[in-house]
Amino acid sequence: MEYETIQGEEIPKIGLGTWRMEGATCREAVETALDLGYRHIDTAQAYGNERQVGQAIQHSDVDREEVFLTTKVWPMHRKRVDIVNSVHESLAQLGTDYVDLLLIHWPNPLASTGEVMRTLSDMRTDGLARHIGVSNFDAEQLETARKEATVDVFTDQVQFHPFNPQEEVLDYCRRNDVLLTAYSPLAHGGAMRDHILTELGNKYDKSPAQVALRWVTQQDDVVTIPKSTSAEHLAQNLEIFDFELTETEMALVGRPSRLRTGMSMLRGRLGR
Ligand code: NAP
Repeated sequence: MEYETIQGEEIPKIGLGTWRMEGATCREAVETALDLGYRHIDTAQAYGNERQVGQAIQHSDVDREEVFLTTKVWPMHRKRVDIVNSVHESLAQLGTDYVDLLLIHWPNPLASTGEVMRTLSDMRTDGLARHIGVSNFDAEQLETARKEATVDVFTDQVQFHPFNPQEEVLDYCRRNDVLLTAYSPLAHGGAMRDHILTELGNKYDKSPAQVALRWVTQQDDVVTIPKSTSAEHLAQNLEIFDFELTETEMALVGRPSRLRTGMSMLRGRLGR
């Protein structure tokens, strides 16, 4: 495993995403991932699987302290009391006293960014979260969030894959010691059908998915959280640190495309 260091903390470059994992499938996938060496797990209140994620961690041989665990507050919780209640509920579901990272899941135009960020900051001060951050914020929204928070904002979790390289957010993160957490790094499955990723995979004896994950993780200040319920894919997604893309290949893979980004979002929403 390779790591990224942000604000003095080491984070595994590859974590496990758990969106659309439910019940026993979720618990089994998290248990398998922990057995394989994953130490970074991403969930959210909205995923409805915090209980299964927590159970998998508790039943594994891995100590809670060894796992970097993220959860997210749903943005409809925009008042302080609702956010605090939501976090307590998440912790109860997860069966833990703290999360390593607590995010606001989406910006909410009806919410006061100040109230949200100050409440998350207090959660950190009170020891319920080791770090706080945001998700789906553009660079301008991230700047506002950082100004309103009373502690450091650790990450912005955004969609990030070869067709959506998020240059503006990444540049902002790099200039301000903020981690970019790349979600949907496989374009929600769309990366597997890409001819450039396939050709590079043939060259390095890797799958298109592994090339996409290598492209994401080869970038500084970026970690990623691919989702898989397949033991085979979970293992493959860790086997990406034994080859390196050249500068030319890195440039070749990153191709901003609104169409392909939109299609991957649609695929996600349709659950395919
Ligand atoms: P993703 O990780 O880009 O793609 C997941 C898809 O790729 C699944 O269909 C999975 O199928 C397949 N896959 C995984 N590894 C593979 C491999 N090695 N070879 C072939 N296929 C492979 O999509 P995502 O779930 O949208 O994003 C990942 C995580 O990011 C989520 O689970 C969630 O934790 C987070 N996320 C956050 C937000 C947010 O708003 N903050 C939004 C979306 C996602 P199998 O299960 O069959 O392997």
